[in-house]
Amino acid sequence: MNSLIEQDSSNESLKAQAKAFAVQQDSLFGDILMPRGDARRQGSQQERQPQPASGDDSALTERLVSITEPWVNAPSLESLNQMICTCQKCPLGQSRTRFVFGTGNFNADIVVIGEAPGADEDASGEPFVGLAGQLLTKILAAINLKRDDVFICNILKCRPPGNRKPEPFEVEQCEPYLLKQLDLIRPKFILALGLTAANTLLNKRAKMSELRGTVHDYHGIRVVVTYHPAALLRNQQWKRPAWEDVQRLRRMYDEEQAAAS
Ligand code: SF4
Repeated sequence: MNSLIEQDSSNESLKAQAKAFAVQQDSLFGDILMPRGDARRQGSQQERQPQPASGDDSALTERLVSITEPWVNAPSLESLNQMICTCQKCPLGQSRTRFVFGTGNFNADIVVIGEAPGADEDASGEPFVGLAGQLLTKILAAINLKRDDVFICNILKCRPPGNRKPEPFEVEQCEPYLLKQLDLIRPKFILALGLTAANTLLNKRAKMSELRGTVHDYHGIRVVVTYHPAALLRNQQWKRPAWEDVQRLRRMYDEEQAAAS
């Protein structure tokens, strides 16, 4: 009996010590060691374990159910990348220099989607580098986000020669990879950059003026449309409306965070 009482008091003592240690580590290192509710915005490259589809997420999963290729069962973004990086399902596989999977936070609440890699991206294997990429970094910074807070990718993973618009067949072959990426990330929002990306995602043939200012839906994910950074470099007058678009996204994101806490 006495030994049981001694064991209980020893356990309580260990718990108290562990709690005191945790409080001390939290005060010293904060979110680095003691992630809080908004840790997913801190640029973590850690994989989120695939979750069973529920609510709006099921729309993505339903689209993927009909696909029988092995990559559709990839348990993580890293494994998906490894499984599809040698893809030759459309002619762009032959002409590309580098496959451009996408980069950023694997647990992001916001996924930024452009049209296709350009020359700089084809050479580096990274999305949105070069001047347009630098402007995207500034746009994100303007709403207090770093590139590593979001996930950045394109509809096509390989560069169309001469930066031409993607062909319907190329989109048809490549878009399922994007669906799988989104199914693994489970973001709350998509920021669609440019008319081609927006119309492709939303299956529309609308003008930018018809797409901006409205929150759209892509398989259960809210979509905000704005100008492509490359277009902003050519047309300074579009910077203000683009600013308004990303501000709207930031407000919705903040509301989402507040509702979740
Ligand atoms: S663009 Fe997409 S579908 Fe075409 S080869 Fe590249 S990864 Fe495959």
